[in-house]
Amino acid sequence: MKHQEAALVCFSGGQDSTTCLFWAKRRFSRVEAVCFTYGQKHSLEIEVARKIASDADVPFHLLDMSLIGQLASDCSLTNSDVAMDQEKPSDSYPNTFVPGRNMLFLTFAAVLARSKGIFHLVTGVSEADYSGYPDCRDTFIHSLNVTLNLAMDERFVIHTPLMDRDKSEVWELADELGVFDLVRTQTLTCYNGIIAEGCGHCPACKLRREGLEKYLERKNGKTGSDGR
Ligand code: ZN
Repeated sequence: MKHQEAALVCFSGGQDSTTCLFWAKRRFSRVEAVCFTYGQKHSLEIEVARKIASDADVPFHLLDMSLIGQLASDCSLTNSDVAMDQEKPSDSYPNTFVPGRNMLFLTFAAVLARSKGIFHLVTGVSEADYSGYPDCRDTFIHSLNVTLNLAMDERFVIHTPLMDRDKSEVWELADELGVFDLVRTQTLTCYNGIIAEGCGHCPACKLRREGLEKYLERKNGKTGSDGR
């Protein structure tokens, strides 16, 4: 049954947040999307997000968070002079990590949502994410939820439908929601800014492909065993 309330989805046009967008459309009577710019090397990401939202009939808001690029000067996503870590360093976070990014995004999303009378926030963060970013953790999300409510004297609810899902399970959810092909052909996850299957060799592409292969193997395995 649909919630008779509205939700705002933190939306980047990637695999995870696109799956979240359609998850929210199933559950809420009104869904809007917010996309953040922060000096990404590939502004194509924004056009991809805008198109997916428009096709899905979801109002699209763009917030300029470019000050993040000013702060995270050693981050490979915002500084083209920094080569991207291909593996997670054993003693630290990969340089695709933008400190505090999810905290800032969710906080600004909440302020925007409140101005529109929306109190459900949806974000595609996951603890199963290979990088283990600290502000993707469930405990942080709960903590921020409390803080937002205290800060604005409201009752926000942050939803994290992907929290316990690995990439193969995110593909599975997209399939359940009937948007497997859309996610596969229209989303942009690749750090090198190539849509759909991507460049094939950056960490995001590897993660996406391995998840897809694992999911298809599981799905086809099931189909195969039905006949035996
Ligand atoms: Zn790639």
